[in-house]
This record gives sequence, C-alpha cells and structure tokens, in this order.
Amino acid sequence: MNPTRADQIGPLDMFKIGIGPSSSHTVGPMIAALEFRKYALTKLSESVPTNDLRLKVELFGSLSATGRGHATDGAVCAGLIGLHPKSAEPEEIWAAMPALQAQPIVQLGQHRARFLPAEDILWQGWFLDDGPLPHPNTIRFRLLNADKIVTEEIILSVGGGFVEPVDISTGMRRLPQASDVQKCVPYPFNSAAEFVEQCKRNGIPLWQLVIENEAAKGMDEATLRKNLSDILRTFDKCIEAGLRTDGILPGGLNVKRRAKALYELMKAGKAPGWSGSDLRPSVFAMAVNEENAAGGRVVTAPTNGSSGLIPAVWRTLQETNNLSDEVLQNGLMVASVIGALVKTHASISGAEVGCQGEVGTSCAMAAAGATAMLGGTPSQIENAAEIGIEHHLGMTCDPIMGLVQVPCIERNAMGAVKALNATMLSLASDGEHLVSLDRALEVMKQTGLDMNQKYKETATGGLALG
Ligand code: SF4
Repeated sequence: MNPTRADQIGPLDMFKIGIGPSSSHTVGPMIAALEFRKYALTKLSESVPTNDLRLKVELFGSLSATGRGHATDGAVCAGLIGLHPKSAEPEEIWAAMPALQAQPIVQLGQHRARFLPAEDILWQGWFLDDGPLPHPNTIRFRLLNADKIVTEEIILSVGGGFVEPVDISTGMRRLPQASDVQKCVPYPFNSAAEFVEQCKRNGIPLWQLVIENEAAKGMDEATLRKNLSDILRTFDKCIEAGLRTDGILPGGLNVKRRAKALYELMKAGKAPGWSGSDLRPSVFAMAVNEENAAGGRVVTAPTNGSSGLIPAVWRTLQETNNLSDEVLQNGLMVASVIGALVKTHASISGAEVGCQGEVGTSCAMAAAGATAMLGGTPSQIENAAEIGIEHHLGMTCDPIMGLVQVPCIERNAMGAVKALNATMLSLASDGEHLVSLDRALEVMKQTGLDMNQKYKETATGGLALG
C-alpha cells in the first residue's frame, strides 16, 4: 500500500529491522528484488521454456550514482534469491553476490534463470526510456526468455526501506488503487495540529492514540509492544557490537571506527569536562552508524543513514533516567508519528530532499519521543519535533564515495545531541512557539525541491568532491 495519510503508517513501518548500510539503497532494493521474485513466480507458467530465461536489473538515478558504495548490487542479489533483510543474517546476505557470480543461476520455482551480477546489473543514468525518472531511486527488473520480455516491474525505493511499484504502462508513480483502502482508525490525524488536538480533546497521551489506531488496523497492543521490544533489543545489540569493535570500515575510504575508543575514554573518566562530561549520545550514535556502515544488523530510524540517533537517545535516557521498557516503547510510538508525518508531507529520502529528510527527521522523531518519555504534553512534543526539524532545514546529502560513512556517522552524533537539546528546550517551555511543525514540514519539502540534484545523494557535490 502507498500510505497517503500519516495515521496509516505505524511504528513497525517506520522502525524496520534490516541491514546496513542504507535503507533506500540497500534495504529497499533488496525488498524490491524480493517483491519482483514473488511477482515473477506468479507470472511464470508451465509453457515458458526453462532453458533460456535471464534476469536483468537496471539501477537508475541515485541508485546508480552511489549504489556501489551502498552495496545495492549485493542487496539486489540477496533479494533475488529470496532473502529478506529482517530474517536473513548479514553474512548470508553478503554471500549472495559472490555465490551468483560463481554460479549465475536464480531458481524460480521449477524454473532456472541466468543472472550474472557483473553483466546483468546495469548501472543506468537519470532517464527511463528517454523520459524522466519517476523517483531518484528507480529500479527496473526484467525476466527475459531469449530477448522477449516474460515479465517486468519498475519499483521505487522511496526511503526508509519503503518501496512503491510503478504503473508500467505510464512509467509514473502508481496512484493509490482501490486495494489501497485506508483503514478506519478511531483517532484520525494527518497533521501535527490534528494529533495535538486529538490528544487534548480525548485526554489521552500520544502513544495511546497510536495503540488504539494500530488495534483498529489489526495489531493488538501486546503484539505491538512485543515487536517494539524486539526493536529495542536490536538497538542495544547494535550499540554493544559497535562499542566492542574497532578497525577500518569497508568500502575503500579507510575510515577508522571511533566509538570503541571514545567509549573507553569516557568510561575511564577522561572525557574533557567542558564537553559536559557525557559523551554517551555521541558515542552510542557512532557505534550504531559504524555497524551500519559495516553492513551489520540495524533498524531504520527512519532510515539506515540516520539509524544511530534514536538508539543513542533512548539508551542515554534509559541510563540517566532509569526508564522502563514500556516507557521506551511509548517513546518509539510517539517518534513514529513524527516520522509518518514527514514521510507523508515531505520525504525521508536523502535522494529526494537531502539529509534534512534523514538525520533531520530522525532528530525530530527522537526529540518528540524523548519529550514524551520525560512527561511532556502533546504541545511540547510537537514543539520538540519542530525544533529538531527546523535546525536541519537545508542540510544536504553528500556522502564521500557514496559510502554511508562521511559525513553520516558524525552527523548522527550531532543529531543525537541536538535532539536532547530540543527536548530540554521544549520541556522548559509551555509548548507555545512561532513556527508549527506542519509549517516546518512544508518548508522542508520545498527546500528539498529547490535543492540542486548534486546535493541529493548523488556523490557529485559538496563533501563528496573531496
Ligand atoms: S549524508 Fe545524510 S542523507 Fe546522505 S547518506 Fe549520509 S545520513 Fe543519509
């Protein structure tokens, strides 16, 4: 389904357990390949000869410009052989491409299709059949019998691991279909003003609104909380892995992992006093983003590039304020509402709006969740999210060599600190403020539209030029 209202996007849509290094360039393409595999299986009939089938995958736009650095090719291979980013182990996922390169066969039911990654993944440009791309992250999958197309699909990776199929006859983004019926929810909202109003009118906290809405969509509270608990455990495991690992990150940029050494410095009480003596938000964020850069197990929050910020804020507050698992889950529900609003009214894709849509969104989500966990009112939550967005407006996406390392890793550390600052500022006020979150999202969208393409995850501008 292509959600067109924020209340249709739940916490488990925003927080997806997957693999690094990118949600739009790794997780999304892997899910897209898996979707195409399922689609192709339904289209293959007994009458199709089995001896001359071939798969082709074309990567367009930003996927082509930075896909090698983001391991898009490896992710596509894993999806084509039927692996899912949540259930498959990272080692299994990264073994798929070498295995296909050695033996270029994808088994599709009883059919065998040839697929040699080095030849059959095509790195294309910014046009689709001489027309504009429907999205900067466009993929075309084709199953051919000799030169004849058996079936094909165009799928967009629109950020945060979300994918959308395209109407193949027009090459344009598919409009909502009758099957995309919006689910009726007891507390509808499609703006920040509306969620604040719903909470105030009904006298319920924002996370309770999410619980009731998700229940109406078919997920009871116990199941929702169990899934959120799994997400919190994945956050923790990822932080722990990052804190005990050092060395050089893969990809050729020779970026050194720093979280472990910083953590040891902090534990030894050697962090400089003028830093506030608490390096935790920065260190935890960097630990996660280093794991992400290494292709490890991470959670979209809302993307992989911005996956460190929320775990860092949650872990810091858990340690400083002794927050319970239930409160941490409540915080995730609140954060997801902000992510859903950004996704619906602006974008969480660096290729569409720059890093304001990734780290900016994550900062707003973290600030809102933290404010809720520390007892803030709905107005203060909205205020915290707005502060988080406002001070990231215009931030570009220019990863060096297309790797999610520089500036991404430090950017999460900076975002985590800003999120806690936004939380303090909102909790110290009454929630009244000049620029609404809804207005900030309009500005974010327009800023993204105005932003030069070279600053939108193409590795052709800014820091990426060295
Ligand atoms: S610069 Fe920001 S948007 Fe771009 S890849 Fe890095 S984290 Fe993602």
